[in-house]
Amino acid sequence: MVTATLRPTRVLVSEQAIYQNVQHALAGLADGTALFAVVKADGYGHGLLRVARVAQAAGATGFCVAILDEALALRQAGFTEPILVLGIIEPAYAGIAAANHIAVPVGDEAWLIAAMPHLSQSTLPPLAVHVAMDTGMGRIGFRDVTALQSACARMTAHPECFDVEGLFTHFATADEPDPSYFQLQVGRFKAFLAALPHKPRYVHVSNSATSLWHAACNGNMIRYGVAMYGLNPSGRAIPTTPYPLVPALSLVSTLSFVKRLPAGEAVSYGATYRAAQDEWIGTVPMGYADGWLRRMQGFHVLVDGQFCEIVGRVCMDQFMIRLPHDYPAGTSVVLVGTSGQATISLQDVADHAGTIHYEIACDIAERVPRVSVAPLD
Ligand SMILES: *Cc1c(COP(=O)(O)O)cnc(C)c1O
Repeated sequence: MVTATLRPTRVLVSEQAIYQNVQHALAGLADGTALFAVVKADGYGHGLLRVARVAQAAGATGFCVAILDEALALRQAGFTEPILVLGIIEPAYAGIAAANHIAVPVGDEAWLIAAMPHLSQSTLPPLAVHVAMDTGMGRIGFRDVTALQSACARMTAHPECFDVEGLFTHFATADEPDPSYFQLQVGRFKAFLAALPHKPRYVHVSNSATSLWHAACNGNMIRYGVAMYGLNPSGRAIPTTPYPLVPALSLVSTLSFVKRLPAGEAVSYGATYRAAQDEWIGTVPMGYADGWLRRMQGFHVLVDGQFCEIVGRVCMDQFMIRLPHDYPAGTSVVLVGTSGQATISLQDVADHAGTIHYEIACDIAERVPRVSVAPLD
């Protein structure tokens, strides 16, 4: 992938914001509760290694990633903290995880059986596993106690292969105002716990939403994701949070071209937009190939503190906006962030796109460089 350093479109990442969010989260944790920073998907689009470094400086003592490659990227960059992969890895790669001291989830005994041949070399340390319980997310994990006990017995019988380091579940509705399904999952998790002879080092259930709104459930580690980036996990559903979340991401560009468009003339593919009168039209060098979705047509960006409508279809690499008057090429454009008194949040973008801010952040392509602002000293 070519990263466009010679184009002005940039993701700006505030390191101070990430740092503050992690520190606020840590301040509210009970003694002995660890915070693992969730840095999957390139740190939710904010940059894997940058976020990991800042989270570590702020007091995170481990990391969660989605896939084995992300864990290896952290190891290759020199991070020595515990790392937990959140998705099921191929059993054939269990040896790679073990050799790199990367913990993985286990959700059925078949996986253990398939992984064992890859873990039996005497030079390998045992593979750290976190036992996943499916209490209602319906994604990965054990769903009944008998299967869980049988798998645990197998791991206990093979300490040369497996080291049970954690036990966890994931909530489907921790970000919703109605707690009933959440409570159902909590009840099931407690029943699972009671059926096990001893608890491993880490017992964890909390994503950001759980840590914010159900902190009593935390266990002794939280998997702190979207709130670290300053985004409310619920979107707008639960507006109050125990501490302020400071958004870390802005998205900026500059006008690449400006023209006066005569009344009646069209803009972009399909000629769906026609100038109602003579208008000033600016071109912004970002498009759907950069993750600025085609359906952002009709939304707006900020120029000089003013909302400017996105007119005509968003192209692959460019889109057009209607300006209140002439501005020179090179004038700055804020797609996400603040300009003057006005702000556009990732949530605003998500609302227009009919999705969640997580998706908008992750969609911003690798082609757009990530630059640190407000770096830690
Ligand atoms: C992604 C993920 C998290 C983090 O969720 P946030 O809502 O971003 O805090 C935690 N746990 C699991 C299992 C995940 O997949």
